[in-house]
Amino acid sequence: MNIEQELGRKLKEGVKVNEPMSLHTSWQVGGPADYYLCPADLDELLEIVRYRKKYDLPLYVMGNGTNLLVRDGGIRGMVVNISSAFCYVNREDEALVAGAGTPMTYLARSAAEKGLVGLEFCIGIPGSLGGAIIMNAGSFGGYIGERIQSVKLVTCDAEIINLAGDELSFSYRTSNLLGRGILIEAVLQLKQGDIEESLQMMEHFLSEREKRHPDLPSAGSVFRNMPGQPAGKIIEETGCKGMKIGGAEVSCKHANFIVNTGKATAADIIELIEQVKKMVKEDCGIELQPEVKIIGEES
Ligand SMILES: Cc1cc2nc3c(=O)[nH]c(=O)nc-3n(C[C@H](O)[C@H](O)[C@H](O)COP(=O)(O)OP(=O)(O)OC[C@H]3O[C@@H](n4cnc5c(N)ncnc54)[C@H](O)[C@@H]3O)c2cc1C
Repeated sequence: MNIEQELGRKLKEGVKVNEPMSLHTSWQVGGPADYYLCPADLDELLEIVRYRKKYDLPLYVMGNGTNLLVRDGGIRGMVVNISSAFCYVNREDEALVAGAGTPMTYLARSAAEKGLVGLEFCIGIPGSLGGAIIMNAGSFGGYIGERIQSVKLVTCDAEIINLAGDELSFSYRTSNLLGRGILIEAVLQLKQGDIEESLQMMEHFLSEREKRHPDLPSAGSVFRNMPGQPAGKIIEETGCKGMKIGGAEVSCKHANFIVNTGKATAADIIELIEQVKKMVKEDCGIELQPEVKIIGEES
């Protein structure tokens, strides 16, 4: 197998070999992916999926890498990023048909531009629509699963399928779509409403984010909230704010964020996650569960 010759020549952007994942994750850490691919369109994506099947290679699909912690040894096999190929938003009646690579902030603003309301809470979430659907991303009381009418996926056999209604289920920061294939498109059910009010709400949410979130590289909330208890509050009360391992630090601004102060490795972040979990367990008996996806190999 020579992936660059056999597959790379069929792709506009070719195949990147040993691509550092630190360039593609919001934490700015992570070792190399063996093969990093950015298909230019659906045909190229199908080529990649068929190639993967032929050689039985592992394939990991990512969006904007804003909920990923890639270990320092990197990822064996292929990493596919569909963000540039599937970035579009079209209105159909009171619905939007959007590509899974569409950034959430762009999606929220596009909805308002097209005269629809209901995606204000998405503003400022730095992920793509695909990643947001998989994670059932949400904020300020809203979550994306509430708006999804149907999704289109490419399966591991390179078939294109649609799922809707009862076939979709969403709960706190998860959905039944994880591992089902590569999400390429979704239909979001919205409604017509007061656009001025929608824009004001978005400005308010953005300024709240600015107040609450640290500026340094992170992956947003590291741990899942407990019922009725935000993880950040538990971590703060345990006295973990400001705790540091290497270049990783529990943010002093928001205790559920771990920030990369400049030279953090994935190993620093993982060690700090373990340390916070241990202290919280010892202090109040709570087992915190990570919300971020930890993938790849140790170095
Ligand atoms: C500063 C900051 C603030 C944040 N605020 C919030 C917030 O308010 N609310 C919130 O919920 N999250 C928040 N997050 C976390 C993150 O942005 C969300 O979880 C987001 O939905 C992840 O999208 P992504 O495109 O980056 O996905 P990635 O991190 O790239 O991937 C996440 C998961 O989705 C899968 N995936 C991605 N795209 C596809 C696809 N097309 N098909 C199949 N699987 C796919 C990946 O395999 C992985 O399992 C924040 C993160 C940061 C850095």
